[in-house]
Amino acid sequence: MTYNKKTIEDIAVAGKRVLVRCDFNVPVKDGVITSDKRIVEALPTIKYLKAQGAMVILCSHMGKPHNVLDAKLKLNKKELAKIAALPAEEQEAATAEALTKAAKDRKKLSLAIVADKLNELLGGGVVFATDTVGEDAKAKVAAMKPGDIVLLENTRFTAAEEKNDPDFSKELASLAEIFVNDAFGTAHRAHASTAGVVQHAGLPAVCGYLIQKEISVMGKALADPERPFVAILGGAKVSDKLNVISNLLGKVDTLIIGGGMAYTFLAAKGYKVGQSLLDTEKIDYCKEMMAKAEASGVQLLLPVDTTIAKSFPDPIDGPIDVEIVDSDKIPDDMQGLDIGPKTMELYANAAKAAKTVVWNGPMGVFENPTLAKGTIAVAKALAESDAVSIVGGGDSAAACEQLGFADRITHISTGGGASLEFLEGKELPGIACLQDK
Ligand code: AMP
Repeated sequence: MTYNKKTIEDIAVAGKRVLVRCDFNVPVKDGVITSDKRIVEALPTIKYLKAQGAMVILCSHMGKPHNVLDAKLKLNKKELAKIAALPAEEQEAATAEALTKAAKDRKKLSLAIVADKLNELLGGGVVFATDTVGEDAKAKVAAMKPGDIVLLENTRFTAAEEKNDPDFSKELASLAEIFVNDAFGTAHRAHASTAGVVQHAGLPAVCGYLIQKEISVMGKALADPERPFVAILGGAKVSDKLNVISNLLGKVDTLIIGGGMAYTFLAAKGYKVGQSLLDTEKIDYCKEMMAKAEASGVQLLLPVDTTIAKSFPDPIDGPIDVEIVDSDKIPDDMQGLDIGPKTMELYANAAKAAKTVVWNGPMGVFENPTLAKGTIAVAKALAESDAVSIVGGGDSAAACEQLGFADRITHISTGGGASLEFLEGKELPGIACLQDK
């Protein structure tokens, strides 16, 4: 999918109310934001709009608050069913308890903490509305002057957000005259605040700098890559990556498979994989992909050796005894949990020889230090490569950041699911709805 969408620079924003969908879904622990990357990534768009004299209305989701409570402080269906299953005399107390807990959980997902961080990063000037489309939001938006910034409360405080509810979309849209989507992380979802404000309310819509960066770097890699173009895919299951494998096979020079999904490919080659993760229903699919690679001259690399253990680590980061064997020598009672050293070298060399590399998914159970070596080797190879290196979000992005390689990677996507769907060639509704250039 190639997008050529209008950006904030292609639309007159001075003096206009501009609703900006950001991805402020940041990790929070004990009331503290543990990574402000997503907030920092949103700043260029916010600063530009402010400098142009727009009235900047920011919105975002954080977590899944409606799972516990809906917008009117009523318990959701799941909670109600749990309570209905209790003896009648216990139901009143259980309801009160569930409501108190839900209200507490919901408070933890308030964007007030993001407003504080934005004020810190921007040197003040960000006003927080305690609701999303309610009285407080309306009053604060009505009082805005050019250059002002208001952050609305969590869009997912109502289930209407994820349902892409037309009425909620219209209410949100009525706050503004222009919509800017800069939330790549949720661009693969058609929600009220990502696509609904355009689909149901017709706001003129363009992308912000972050989405522009994401689609131009990844779009170029897929449409017109500098070759050799190498893709490295890992992660647990083949079934999660079916479309991405087949789409990339039509584009890359080399496709590298690691992680749990490699064992289904090894089984398709006729190897015994012992107790390793195996998706028996997908063995034929893997055979088909291997044939497709061969027919189209794409090099498909699979692990030549593997790190095995008697069982999956428990706890996941606990000590574990491992052995290294060739991929066709996995004993029946052992399981493969990481790529082996020969494979690490093979994959690292392929990454270093590339001009464009795309990586998505860990090479092994990277949560365990003994089984993280394959993932670290790939991250290091990307950092050392002169290629345009692109890392899909999620685990692989976290690995690059934790290892301190982030500034040596060309582009680390801010969206795990969104970048995967982009690599699959799927249309992303939050981007498709924006105006074309
Ligand atoms: P995904 O969510 O598909 O990107 O997969 C990430 C998960 O795959 C991580 O939690 C890894 O621990 C897990 N994983 C990677 N390699 C293996 C393996 N060989 N066996 C079991 N799980 C694995």
